[in-house]
Amino acid sequence: MNRNGALLAVAIVLTSCTGTQRTATRASGALPAPSRPPALPAAAPASQPAAPAPGPPGHVIVIDPGHNGQNWSHPGDINRLVDIGNGTKACDTTGTATRDGYTEAAHDLDVASRLAAVLTRAGALVVLTRSDNDGWGPCVDERAAIGNRAHADVAISIHADGSPAGRGFHVIYPAVVAGLTEAIAAPSERLALDVRGAYARGTGMPYATYAGHAGLAQRGDLGGLNRSRVPKVFIETGNMLDPTDAALLEDPSFRDRAARALAEGLEAFLSGH
Ligand code: ZN
Repeated sequence: MNRNGALLAVAIVLTSCTGTQRTATRASGALPAPSRPPALPAAAPASQPAAPAPGPPGHVIVIDPGHNGQNWSHPGDINRLVDIGNGTKACDTTGTATRDGYTEAAHDLDVASRLAAVLTRAGALVVLTRSDNDGWGPCVDERAAIGNRAHADVAISIHADGSPAGRGFHVIYPAVVAGLTEAIAAPSERLALDVRGAYARGTGMPYATYAGHAGLAQRGDLGGLNRSRVPKVFIETGNMLDPTDAALLEDPSFRDRAARALAEGLEAFLSGH
């Protein structure tokens, strides 16, 4: 059910939440309250464990739920240009939504929260870049900085896509960008393979038919990856504008499977197989 026509209208304009030509200015809304920094759980330790054990226990894992529920009502803030290392880009975008109004921002936080619960139970130290869906931001450079400050062993950004055609998921990992990602490119590619395999097995979601190749895409234009100093990937869990994918992404039981699958992917990476 579409409970927010304005938000849906904004979302449908967007074709892909990590694309290069997105705009977040379609909605103009009142700015009812001063912006506030996103809440951060208090789980971030000051330093990385000296001798990481295999698997999650003791590992620091940063989970970044894409966008935020009120980005649409803060166009000035989220269109502000930030440094993505090899250029500038908007602070953030609104994200997309299914055709009946389930927003990507809500989906991303839900999957991230389920994933955080699984990993925390397994003994990991989890940091979320946002923990509610009521604010705006943080900007993409800050999302990367949160992982860096936490000295994360691994970071993952959770998104769902909004392509006008096609379905399926893909995992985005950083290109080798001089002066930025040389150190994380190789481990991030290994992370992408682990996450791709676990997500495909755990959810049955096919590889994207409209983006990347065999469920993978390498990009050098995303600030959240360029600015990261820790191994990191994005996952586009499915295409919210595809009816089949949308029905899955709106289903809490699917999101639970997705979270468990992502946990397995991260565990595989951290254990080094
Ligand atoms: Zn997104």
